Amino acid sequence: MSRKHWFFVLGIWAVLAAVAVAAPQKALIIDGQNGHNWKETTPVLKKLLEETGLFTVDVATSPPKGEDMSGFKPDFAAYDVVISNYQGDSWPEETQQALVDYVKGGGGLVIYHFACAAFPNWKEYNEMSGLGGWGRRNEKHGPYVRWRDGKFVRDTSPGRGGGHGPMQPFQLVIREPNHPITEGLPEKFMHVNDELYGWLRGPAKNLTVLATAFAPKDKGGAGEHEPLLFTVEYGTGRVFQNALGHTAKELKSVAFIATFRRGVEWAATGKVTQKVPDDFPTAEKASVRE
Ligand code: ZN
Repeated sequence: MSRKHWFFVLGIWAVLAAVAVAAPQKALIIDGQNGHNWKETTPVLKKLLEETGLFTVDVATSPPKGEDMSGFKPDFAAYDVVISNYQGDSWPEETQQALVDYVKGGGGLVIYHFACAAFPNWKEYNEMSGLGGWGRRNEKHGPYVRWRDGKFVRDTSPGRGGGHGPMQPFQLVIREPNHPITEGLPEKFMHVNDELYGWLRGPAKNLTVLATAFAPKDKGGAGEHEPLLFTVEYGTGRVFQNALGHTAKELKSVAFIATFRRGVEWAATGKVTQKVPDDFPTAEKASVRE
Protein backbone atom coordinates (compact mmCIF):
# COMPACT_ATOMS: atom_id res chain seq x y z
CA MET A 1 0.00 0.00 0.00
CA SER A 2 1.21 3.50 -0.76
CA ARG A 3 1.91 6.07 1.90
CA LYS A 4 -1.18 7.95 0.83
CA HIS A 5 -3.30 4.86 1.39
CA TRP A 6 -1.87 4.40 4.87
CA PHE A 7 -2.80 7.94 5.81
CA PHE A 8 -6.28 7.28 4.48
CA VAL A 9 -6.64 4.10 6.57
CA LEU A 10 -5.32 5.86 9.70
CA GLY A 11 -7.71 8.74 9.08
CA ILE A 12 -10.70 6.40 8.89
CA TRP A 13 -9.65 4.74 12.16
CA ALA A 14 -9.29 8.10 13.87
CA VAL A 15 -12.80 9.09 12.80
CA LEU A 16 -14.27 5.76 13.93
CA ALA A 17 -12.51 6.00 17.30
CA ALA A 18 -13.81 9.54 17.81
CA VAL A 19 -17.35 8.42 16.97
CA ALA A 20 -17.05 5.47 19.36
CA VAL A 21 -16.02 7.79 22.20
CA ALA A 22 -18.64 10.41 21.50
CA ALA A 23 -21.58 8.13 20.64
CA PRO A 24 -24.26 8.42 23.29
CA GLN A 25 -25.46 5.34 25.11
CA LYS A 26 -28.90 4.09 24.13
CA ALA A 27 -31.29 4.02 27.07
CA LEU A 28 -34.82 2.64 27.28
CA ILE A 29 -37.28 3.53 30.04
CA ILE A 30 -40.05 0.99 30.68
CA ASP A 31 -43.35 2.24 32.11
CA GLY A 32 -47.11 1.93 31.56
CA GLN A 33 -48.17 0.56 34.93
CA ASN A 34 -47.04 1.55 38.40
CA GLY A 35 -48.63 2.14 41.79
CA HIS A 36 -46.86 5.49 41.46
CA ASN A 37 -47.34 8.37 39.03
CA TRP A 38 -45.18 7.09 36.17
CA LYS A 39 -46.74 9.56 33.73
CA GLU A 40 -45.19 12.34 35.82
CA THR A 41 -41.82 10.75 36.60
CA THR A 42 -40.83 9.17 33.26
CA PRO A 43 -40.46 12.53 31.43
CA VAL A 44 -38.28 13.80 34.30
CA LEU A 45 -36.05 10.70 34.23
CA LYS A 46 -35.76 11.04 30.44
CA LYS A 47 -34.78 14.69 30.65
CA LEU A 48 -32.26 14.08 33.44
CA LEU A 49 -30.47 11.56 31.24
CA GLU A 50 -30.67 13.57 28.02
CA GLU A 51 -29.27 16.68 29.73
CA THR A 52 -25.98 14.86 30.35
CA GLY A 53 -25.41 14.48 26.62
CA LEU A 54 -24.39 10.90 27.34
CA PHE A 55 -27.65 9.19 26.45
CA THR A 56 -30.41 8.99 23.92
CA VAL A 57 -33.62 7.87 25.59
CA ASP A 58 -36.61 5.94 24.26
CA VAL A 59 -39.68 4.98 26.29
CA ALA A 60 -41.60 1.70 26.00
CA THR A 61 -45.07 2.01 27.55
CA SER A 62 -46.98 -1.18 28.30
CA PRO A 63 -50.74 -1.59 27.89
CA PRO A 64 -52.74 -0.45 30.96
CA LYS A 65 -53.42 -2.73 33.89
CA GLY A 66 -55.68 -5.66 33.11
CA GLU A 67 -55.32 -5.37 29.34
CA ASP A 68 -53.75 -7.82 26.91
CA MET A 69 -49.97 -7.79 27.45
CA SER A 70 -49.13 -10.37 24.79
CA GLY A 71 -47.89 -7.73 22.34
CA PHE A 72 -45.58 -5.98 24.83
CA LYS A 73 -42.13 -6.91 23.56
CA PRO A 74 -39.60 -4.09 23.94
CA ASP A 75 -36.36 -4.75 22.06
CA PHE A 76 -34.08 -4.72 25.13
CA ALA A 77 -31.15 -6.02 23.11
CA ALA A 78 -31.07 -2.80 21.05
CA TYR A 79 -30.12 -0.76 24.17
CA ASP A 80 -27.13 -0.26 26.42
CA VAL A 81 -29.28 0.27 29.48
CA VAL A 82 -32.89 -0.37 30.45
CA ILE A 83 -34.49 1.69 33.22
CA SER A 84 -37.55 0.24 34.89
CA ASN A 85 -40.25 2.59 36.09
CA TYR A 86 -42.68 -0.33 35.90
CA GLN A 87 -44.70 -2.10 38.57
CA GLY A 88 -47.77 -3.97 37.43
CA ASP A 89 -49.09 -6.95 35.50
CA SER A 90 -46.78 -9.79 34.55
CA TRP A 91 -45.08 -9.60 31.19
CA PRO A 92 -45.37 -12.32 28.56
CA GLU A 93 -42.90 -15.14 29.13
CA GLU A 94 -41.05 -14.19 25.96
CA THR A 95 -40.53 -10.62 27.25
CA GLN A 96 -39.36 -11.87 30.64
CA GLN A 97 -36.86 -14.20 28.97
CA ALA A 98 -35.65 -11.39 26.70
CA LEU A 99 -34.84 -9.20 29.73
CA VAL A 100 -33.05 -12.06 31.48
CA ASP A 101 -31.00 -12.86 28.36
CA TYR A 102 -30.21 -9.19 27.82
CA VAL A 103 -28.90 -8.61 31.35
CA LYS A 104 -27.15 -11.99 31.57
CA GLY A 105 -25.41 -11.20 28.30
CA GLY A 106 -23.96 -7.93 29.57
CA GLY A 107 -26.84 -5.45 29.44
CA GLY A 108 -27.45 -2.73 32.00
CA LEU A 109 -30.60 -2.53 34.13
CA VAL A 110 -31.64 0.25 36.48
CA ILE A 111 -34.48 -0.23 38.93
CA TYR A 112 -36.00 3.04 40.05
CA HIS A 113 -37.97 3.48 43.29
CA PHE A 114 -41.23 1.47 43.23
CA ALA A 115 -40.05 -0.78 40.36
CA CYS A 116 -38.51 -2.77 43.23
CA ALA A 117 -42.08 -3.86 44.04
CA ALA A 118 -42.67 -5.40 40.60
CA PHE A 119 -42.94 -9.09 39.83
CA PRO A 120 -42.72 -10.60 43.36
CA ASN A 121 -42.99 -14.13 41.99
CA TRP A 122 -40.62 -13.84 39.03
CA LYS A 123 -37.51 -15.61 40.33
CA GLU A 124 -35.03 -14.06 37.88
CA TYR A 125 -36.37 -10.54 38.44
CA ASN A 126 -35.77 -10.95 42.16
CA GLU A 127 -32.25 -12.17 41.44
CA MET A 128 -31.55 -9.28 39.09
CA SER A 129 -32.97 -6.67 41.48
CA GLY A 130 -31.27 -8.20 44.53
CA LEU A 131 -33.66 -6.71 47.06
CA GLY A 132 -37.30 -5.72 46.65
CA GLY A 133 -40.41 -4.92 48.60
CA TRP A 134 -44.19 -5.18 48.69
CA GLY A 135 -46.20 -7.63 46.57
CA ARG A 136 -46.45 -9.84 49.68
CA ARG A 137 -42.70 -10.31 49.78
CA ASN A 138 -41.53 -11.98 52.98
CA GLU A 139 -38.77 -14.23 54.32
CA LYS A 140 -39.43 -16.73 51.49
CA HIS A 141 -38.05 -14.13 49.08
CA GLY A 142 -34.71 -13.88 50.88
CA PRO A 143 -33.00 -12.03 53.72
CA TYR A 144 -32.85 -8.39 54.75
CA VAL A 145 -29.37 -6.96 54.26
CA ARG A 146 -28.32 -5.15 57.44
CA TRP A 147 -25.35 -2.96 58.32
CA ARG A 148 -24.30 -4.06 61.78
CA ASP A 149 -21.00 -3.57 63.61
CA GLY A 150 -19.30 -2.12 60.56
CA LYS A 151 -20.29 -4.77 58.05
CA PHE A 152 -23.22 -6.08 56.05
CA VAL A 153 -24.98 -9.18 57.32
CA ARG A 154 -27.93 -11.15 56.02
CA ASP A 155 -30.89 -11.25 58.38
CA THR A 156 -33.24 -14.12 57.64
CA SER A 157 -35.78 -13.33 60.36
CA PRO A 158 -39.39 -13.61 59.22
CA GLY A 159 -41.25 -10.47 58.32
CA ARG A 160 -42.53 -8.21 55.63
CA GLY A 161 -40.59 -7.10 52.60
CA GLY A 162 -40.92 -3.38 51.99
CA GLY A 163 -42.31 -0.50 53.99
CA HIS A 164 -41.70 3.08 55.01
CA GLY A 165 -42.74 5.66 57.56
CA PRO A 166 -44.00 9.16 56.77
CA MET A 167 -41.89 11.20 54.37
CA GLN A 168 -38.81 12.69 56.00
CA PRO A 169 -35.51 14.22 54.98
CA PHE A 170 -32.66 11.75 55.43
CA GLN A 171 -28.92 11.41 55.10
CA LEU A 172 -27.27 8.85 52.85
CA VAL A 173 -24.03 7.27 53.99
CA ILE A 174 -21.65 5.74 51.46
CA ARG A 175 -20.71 2.18 52.39
CA GLU A 176 -18.66 1.45 49.26
CA PRO A 177 -16.59 4.47 48.20
CA ASN A 178 -14.49 2.51 45.68
CA HIS A 179 -17.26 1.95 43.16
CA PRO A 180 -17.51 4.07 39.98
CA ILE A 181 -20.98 5.29 41.02
CA THR A 182 -19.85 6.57 44.43
CA GLU A 183 -16.22 7.45 43.76
CA GLY A 184 -15.57 11.06 44.69
CA LEU A 185 -18.89 11.64 46.44
CA PRO A 186 -18.80 12.89 50.03
CA GLU A 187 -19.19 10.10 52.58
CA LYS A 188 -22.47 11.57 53.86
CA PHE A 189 -25.04 13.64 52.00
CA MET A 190 -28.60 14.81 52.58
CA HIS A 191 -31.63 13.97 50.47
CA VAL A 192 -34.91 15.91 50.53
CA ASN A 193 -38.16 14.96 52.21
CA ASP A 194 -38.94 11.56 50.64
CA GLU A 195 -40.00 8.03 51.38
CA LEU A 196 -37.22 6.16 53.15
CA TYR A 197 -37.65 2.63 51.84
CA GLY A 198 -37.11 -0.06 54.42
CA TRP A 199 -37.34 -3.79 55.01
CA LEU A 200 -36.35 -4.61 51.42
CA ARG A 201 -35.57 -8.28 51.02
CA GLY A 202 -34.57 -10.64 48.26
CA PRO A 203 -31.98 -13.18 47.13
CA ALA A 204 -29.25 -10.50 47.56
CA LYS A 205 -26.78 -12.52 45.49
CA ASN A 206 -23.72 -10.72 44.08
CA LEU A 207 -25.02 -7.58 45.77
CA THR A 208 -22.96 -4.51 46.64
CA VAL A 209 -24.60 -1.92 48.86
CA LEU A 210 -23.29 1.51 47.89
CA ALA A 211 -25.23 3.64 50.38
CA THR A 212 -27.62 3.32 53.28
CA ALA A 213 -29.82 5.69 55.28
CA PHE A 214 -30.80 5.23 58.90
CA ALA A 215 -34.55 4.80 59.44
CA PRO A 216 -35.37 5.75 63.04
CA LYS A 217 -38.11 3.79 64.80
CA ASP A 218 -39.77 7.00 65.99
CA LYS A 219 -40.21 7.99 62.34
CA GLY A 220 -41.80 4.72 61.25
CA GLY A 221 -38.59 2.92 60.40
CA ALA A 222 -36.96 -0.34 61.45
CA GLY A 223 -34.18 1.34 63.45
CA GLU A 224 -31.76 0.03 60.81
CA HIS A 225 -29.45 1.39 58.13
CA GLU A 226 -31.53 0.72 55.03
CA PRO A 227 -29.80 -0.08 51.72
CA LEU A 228 -31.04 2.53 49.21
CA LEU A 229 -28.38 2.49 46.48
CA PHE A 230 -26.99 -0.88 45.46
CA THR A 231 -25.72 -2.92 42.55
CA VAL A 232 -26.08 -6.53 41.48
CA GLU A 233 -23.88 -8.48 39.11
CA TYR A 234 -26.10 -10.78 37.09
CA GLY A 235 -24.32 -12.91 34.50
CA THR A 236 -22.09 -10.40 32.78
CA GLY A 237 -24.67 -7.63 33.22
CA ARG A 238 -24.80 -4.75 35.65
CA VAL A 239 -27.85 -3.82 37.71
CA PHE A 240 -28.22 -0.63 39.73
CA GLN A 241 -31.07 0.10 42.08
CA ASN A 242 -31.98 3.59 43.30
CA ALA A 243 -34.77 3.55 45.89
CA LEU A 244 -35.16 7.34 46.07
CA GLY A 245 -37.68 9.56 44.30
CA HIS A 246 -41.36 9.09 45.17
CA THR A 247 -42.70 11.77 42.77
CA ALA A 248 -41.31 14.36 40.34
CA LYS A 249 -40.81 16.72 43.29
CA GLU A 250 -38.28 14.44 44.97
CA LEU A 251 -36.48 13.97 41.64
CA LYS A 252 -35.29 17.58 41.99
CA SER A 253 -32.96 16.50 44.77
CA VAL A 254 -29.35 16.52 43.58
CA ALA A 255 -28.80 13.42 45.74
CA PHE A 256 -31.18 11.66 43.37
CA ILE A 257 -30.11 13.39 40.15
CA ALA A 258 -26.42 12.67 40.55
CA THR A 259 -26.73 9.09 41.80
CA PHE A 260 -29.32 8.25 39.14
CA ARG A 261 -27.28 9.64 36.26
CA ARG A 262 -24.09 8.00 37.51
CA GLY A 263 -25.86 4.69 38.10
CA VAL A 264 -27.35 4.67 34.60
CA GLU A 265 -23.96 5.39 33.04
CA TRP A 266 -22.32 2.65 35.08
CA ALA A 267 -25.04 0.14 34.19
CA ALA A 268 -24.59 1.02 30.51
CA THR A 269 -20.80 1.03 30.33
CA GLY A 270 -19.22 -0.14 33.60
CA LYS A 271 -17.66 3.31 34.00
CA VAL A 272 -18.68 6.77 35.21
CA THR A 273 -17.28 9.79 33.40
CA GLN A 274 -19.50 12.39 35.10
CA LYS A 275 -17.94 14.79 37.57
CA VAL A 276 -19.50 15.32 40.98
CA PRO A 277 -21.68 18.42 40.48
CA ASP A 278 -20.80 21.64 42.32
CA ASP A 279 -24.23 21.75 43.94
CA PHE A 280 -23.94 18.23 45.38
CA PRO A 281 -25.49 18.13 48.88
CA THR A 282 -23.45 18.16 52.05
CA ALA A 283 -23.81 16.04 55.18
CA GLU A 284 -26.11 18.69 56.66
CA LYS A 285 -27.91 20.27 53.73
CA ALA A 286 -29.93 18.82 50.85
CA SER A 287 -29.63 20.41 47.43
CA VAL A 288 -32.52 21.00 45.02
CA ARG A 289 -32.66 22.04 41.35
CA GLU A 290 -35.73 23.92 40.19
ZN1 ZN B 1 -43.01 5.99 46.57
